[in-house]
Amino acid sequence: MILTDSQWQSAQIATRVTHAGRRDKTQHGPVNPPVVRASTMLFPDVAALHAASGTRRSYARLATETTLALEQALCAAESAAACMLTPSGLSAITTTLLALLKPGDHLLMVDTAYDPTRLFCDGLLKNIGVTTTYYHPLVGADIAKWMQPNTKVIFVESPGSLTFEVQDIPAIAAVAHAHGAVVVSDSTWATPIGWSSFELGIDVSIHAATKYIVGHSDALMGAILTTEALHPVIRDTYRQLGLTIGSDDAALALRGLRTLPARLAVHRESAYKIACWLQTQPEVAEVLYPPLENARGHALWKRDFRPEYACGLMGLVFHGDITVQQVAALIDRTRLFGIGYSWGGYESLILPTAPSRYRSIDVDQWNAPMLRLHVGLEDADDLLVDLADGFADLRAMSVAAQIKAA
Ligand SMILES: *Cc1c(COP(=O)(O)O)cnc(C)c1O
Repeated sequence: MILTDSQWQSAQIATRVTHAGRRDKTQHGPVNPPVVRASTMLFPDVAALHAASGTRRSYARLATETTLALEQALCAAESAAACMLTPSGLSAITTTLLALLKPGDHLLMVDTAYDPTRLFCDGLLKNIGVTTTYYHPLVGADIAKWMQPNTKVIFVESPGSLTFEVQDIPAIAAVAHAHGAVVVSDSTWATPIGWSSFELGIDVSIHAATKYIVGHSDALMGAILTTEALHPVIRDTYRQLGLTIGSDDAALALRGLRTLPARLAVHRESAYKIACWLQTQPEVAEVLYPPLENARGHALWKRDFRPEYACGLMGLVFHGDITVQQVAALIDRTRLFGIGYSWGGYESLILPTAPSRYRSIDVDQWNAPMLRLHVGLEDADDLLVDLADGFADLRAMSVAAQIKAA
């Protein structure tokens, strides 16, 4: 690392993200760590082989110079004790839950979790004898009522997938820790720099690095960031499952991470501008974007997140008289917003959503047509013009439908 210990102590996030995981400036060499394409590591003699045995230097599945650099940089970005890299965000979630839960244990899962996370709880976890209870995202300290003697993990995702509820994580963590349970967070929206996850009481912070960390829609990856205490148990399962990532992907993620603070500043500014504009459209019932002053969850977001690093993902709820066909017309008309799953790349995306399909609680709360928008790095005014064109088509369709009905 480049900085002295005291410089590291006082370094701000953008400085840490720029310098972590790089060689000392007193050594000659390239700025970035080499992309080490390797499976086998060779040892000069038997003594060296034995000396490396059991360490991460013994085999490339355990580490390369490239993957180690990415781990170090992510730890520095989120002030985590340890990092494990997985082939996807979903595998980071499933590995962590498999590591922390055994047959007979109970899991409290937020009802707004990413849908494939639910499928894992209702599938493999159930098959091995782990029970899951879905809880309301806004439950706060009342989570205590849902605790069972065998509850080992409370899983949070804040803001929630598709509906963006902000959870009271310190209140939930206090209950979890009083019962000897741990808090696992899907922190993809926050990114490693959008909040102080471990200070809020999170024990394991998971990222779909696929999104903002890679940041350019060209690789899939997950990251498990953890406290010192939980590292050994998760590492054990991670290694038994044989998880690893390739160095080429690690280099892409490292490149993405270096510009994360700068990119988020633009995503946030444009997203805020667009969210304000969307609120003025008569067909829009609600904009689900916690950084908006009048959005639900804003007070908790303001308390727990770093406002300068908010991201560009938001939801949109239409009034009940708008049809899904009209929403499709809006989506199809836009030119700058791509239609696709995922988010967090440099490009803008748009998608119709139907959260009630993936919920156990308040299933009827989200029946109006909805959208998810990822505001990318295009010029915000160009994006506004594109969305205005989309709203024009949405309106034209309603007029056409009225004429047809008359
Ligand atoms: C995309 C996503 C994931 C899964 O990431 P993959 O890399 O696609 O497996 C997990 N959680 C959230 C909130 C996501 O948006």
